[in-house]
Amino acid sequence: MTPSPHALYIHIPFCTTKCTYCAFNTYTHLETLIPAFVDALVNELKIAAGEQPNTPLATVFVGGGTPSLLTLEQHARILSTIRSHFDLDTGAEISIETNPNDLDLTYLSGLRHEGYNRLSVGMQSANERELRLFARRHDHAVVTQIWPLIRQAGFDNVNLDLIYGSPFQTLDTWRQTLDETLRFAPDHISLYALGLEDGTPLKAWVEDGSVPRPDDDLTADMYDLATEMLDQAGYRQYEISNWCKPGHECRHNLQYWRNLPYIGVGPGAHGYAGGVRYSTELSPQRYVRRLQETPVNPFPLTPAVIESTPVDRANEIADTLMMGLRLTREGIELDTFAARFGVSLLELHGEVIAKHVQAGLLHVDDAHITLTERGRFLSNVVLRDLI
Ligand code: SF4
Repeated sequence: MTPSPHALYIHIPFCTTKCTYCAFNTYTHLETLIPAFVDALVNELKIAAGEQPNTPLATVFVGGGTPSLLTLEQHARILSTIRSHFDLDTGAEISIETNPNDLDLTYLSGLRHEGYNRLSVGMQSANERELRLFARRHDHAVVTQIWPLIRQAGFDNVNLDLIYGSPFQTLDTWRQTLDETLRFAPDHISLYALGLEDGTPLKAWVEDGSVPRPDDDLTADMYDLATEMLDQAGYRQYEISNWCKPGHECRHNLQYWRNLPYIGVGPGAHGYAGGVRYSTELSPQRYVRRLQETPVNPFPLTPAVIESTPVDRANEIADTLMMGLRLTREGIELDTFAARFGVSLLELHGEVIAKHVQAGLLHVDDAHITLTERGRFLSNVVLRDLI
């Protein structure tokens, strides 16, 4: 049987500096490890692919960390390994996350030439005070300078990441960031509500009172303002935190939200394939050492995997509901659900669904179940009942 199309996530765990809000698995001052890391990664890709290049890939997402710290030669090696060891769809979406400071026309054209066709840029804010608080490497002028070069290099599918709900941020500075973003007219916009993550300087500063705690009501107002401005500018919201021009949905992330299989490689990556959820070694040094071991486990597990859990049907259904309800328009497709699980969702959870429809939290039509706008704020209540 031909396996269904998979997504492939590659984690590049290096950054030049650490942002003050960031709790991702990423490390500074480790640049000298990058060549050995790329060797290990190429090896892991070959192992994850298995003996035959028969795992179809519909999307590849190189994230981090800062993938734009790798040279064009290193990217070429990674992408050619994928092409030769997986069945990469000719129209595959191949995305890369980048830091604005790493980009110039030569590098951008090189990435495009190697096969990347979707670029994500960590803009985060157009406000210098906010960028300094985050200890971002770039200032906003850099984004303004590189924007035309991104288009000139041939990228016609570009995402900008923005952060809202941060200390000192006002509705006005957020509006300015949104205005600046719309001036660039990107194809896709992802909004991140700032979280105060354990172990980050930003959380410590909020706790010791040196910066103000973000205000939840103001953060909700910022989300509403973004929804209004992006809608007026012709962007279509398709997920709780994601907007795009028609036809520019991130296909890689849709794979996650539809709870479909993805392979994860690189330190601290997560995967869901072959009926198993798994995660890999966090430390880049130990990751490199592990990839020198002989593989013993079957697809999709590699020597980098430190934890794996088989997913039974009940958990697969729960994950499908939890992820799918993030999709604001598509939600859960009733036919797709019935074909996948051999049972209608309305038969399985009819009573609970009816209760939340009546309470105005869920919307059901012939083809989909979605959260209503009010339901998005109370999604935990709906999911608790459903799962
Ligand atoms: S660039 Fe991204 S991954 Fe690196 S420290 Fe900043 S937020 Fe984290």
